[in-house]
Amino acid sequence: MGRLIYLDNNATTQMAPEVLKAISEAEPVVYGNASSMHTFGREASRLVEDARANIAQLIDCNADEITFTSGASEANNTVFMIAKSLIEKRGGGRIVTTTIEHPSIIETVKYLRGCGISVDQVTVSSDGRIKMDEFKRLMGPDVVLVSVMTGNNETGAIQPIAQVSEIAHSYGALVHSDATQAIGKIRVSCRDWNLDYLSCSGHKFYGPKGVGILYAKKGVAYMPFVHGGEQEHGRRAGTYNTISIYGVGVAAKLAMENLDEENRKLWKMREALREGIVERIPHVVVNGCKEREFCLPGTLDVSFENVEGESILLMLDMEGIAVSTGSACATGSLEPSYVLMAGGLDVELAHGSIRFSFGRFNTMEDVERVLEVLPPIIERLRAISTR
Ligand code: PMP
Repeated sequence: MGRLIYLDNNATTQMAPEVLKAISEAEPVVYGNASSMHTFGREASRLVEDARANIAQLIDCNADEITFTSGASEANNTVFMIAKSLIEKRGGGRIVTTTIEHPSIIETVKYLRGCGISVDQVTVSSDGRIKMDEFKRLMGPDVVLVSVMTGNNETGAIQPIAQVSEIAHSYGALVHSDATQAIGKIRVSCRDWNLDYLSCSGHKFYGPKGVGILYAKKGVAYMPFVHGGEQEHGRRAGTYNTISIYGVGVAAKLAMENLDEENRKLWKMREALREGIVERIPHVVVNGCKEREFCLPGTLDVSFENVEGESILLMLDMEGIAVSTGSACATGSLEPSYVLMAGGLDVELAHGSIRFSFGRFNTMEDVERVLEVLPPIIERLRAISTR
């Protein structure tokens, strides 16, 4: 087998060498608890605050509006639990979100419904974008929280967050966006989009795993999800993951510096792969976003008729190429992707889907290699298909 090719950057990214260098230099010397008052603690705290400042620039907010969590899943859970407590305090109210959110929201919605909270989910069109007329119909003065993701992890579809935010605010609702997949790929602005909350995660933009970022606008409703300590001004208990947070700060700086160039490079590779697949392989459907403006640049989701996505994944893996079927989070289940089905794709095609997600370390040679091995794989699988 030749070189390994990683095309699963939406699941997670490789740490940038600059990040790795920075954290390996800091790790042996900065080991104090960032909450301690002595020199060791203050040095650790300095790294955390450096990171906070860099991340605030990346998502365009004030540093003191950022709370560090264990990941975007925890940040998302926190926001929905804030909404639950507001609804309970007011003795009523509703949450409006979508059918294509990450499982850390979809499953939280199920939990909240079990607690008696009403939640409505806006559906999407075949391009993966939410139906704005339906969204407007679902809005009302009783809506406490609107949560719409910035860009989808499977289809790459980008939502009109600024517009959603404006409409939601006109009804007095709070607005949250899960921007985990968008950070480092497109410009994200808490200020311009007038958001109340935003979630993201360091491991999606070449930082270490296990660091989530929750932006909460100054003065907005807040309630800790993890209780038990005064860290983050009582907003999130637990000893700081100092070194990883520092690494995410370095990653944020790199993401800012390279945003436009990276966006262009990812789109170029994505488009070359899309065109190549459509040219070389019959009976394929490209899922989700169609226009560049509404696409995360490095995401390509394709359904191959009469083939199981899992079989394609395994055969590509044997060639040293890593891709995903549905979302990584659904791995282990053979359920077709709820995101693709939400866009109206039929079950058979949803079963035959593969997500290719490019990142900073991919090259055009990777695209060429996929285009070399994929057509014969599909041909072989179709020849033995019983479907
Ligand atoms: N939201 C989205 C859109 C994601 O893609 C992911 C990661 N797959 C998450 C949230 C969860 O992030 P984390 O792994 O940091 O909990």
